[in-house]
Amino acid sequence: MAQLDRAERLAAALERDGATCVWCGGGFDRLSRPTTEHVVPRAKGGPSWLENEVAACRRCNGERGHRALVEWLDECERRGWHPDVPRLERVLVDLKRAIAERGGQRRARPELAAQLRRLRRRAA
Ligand SMILES: [Zn+2]
Repeated sequence: MAQLDRAERLAAALERDGATCVWCGGGFDRLSRPTTEHVVPRAKGGPSWLENEVAACRRCNGERGHRALVEWLDECERRGWHPDVPRLERVLVDLKRAIAERGGQRRARPELAAQLRRLRRRAA
């Protein structure tokens, strides 16, 4: 998977998760193209791996900025959108496993652990 380029990873994420925005639940078309959303933001050390990437529409991706995952998730729900919480949890778990296997990612690890904990606490 490490050999896939950015466009190929986005295509793989759409194949894996379905062709909807992870934040608002909207579908994609010619006017709303999918963009790559990093679950753990790159600004917080998140790697450009398929395991850290999901599809989001340009509006949601842009409005999230560098906000932490659960903070932005709560904001999406306040706005009456339909974020894909199971997808987010699945990706965080996969990313945790990928980091454990490949090593490194020292900056991403604590952020990932904190967001997974918050996600599970809010589901409980
Ligand atoms: Zn969206």
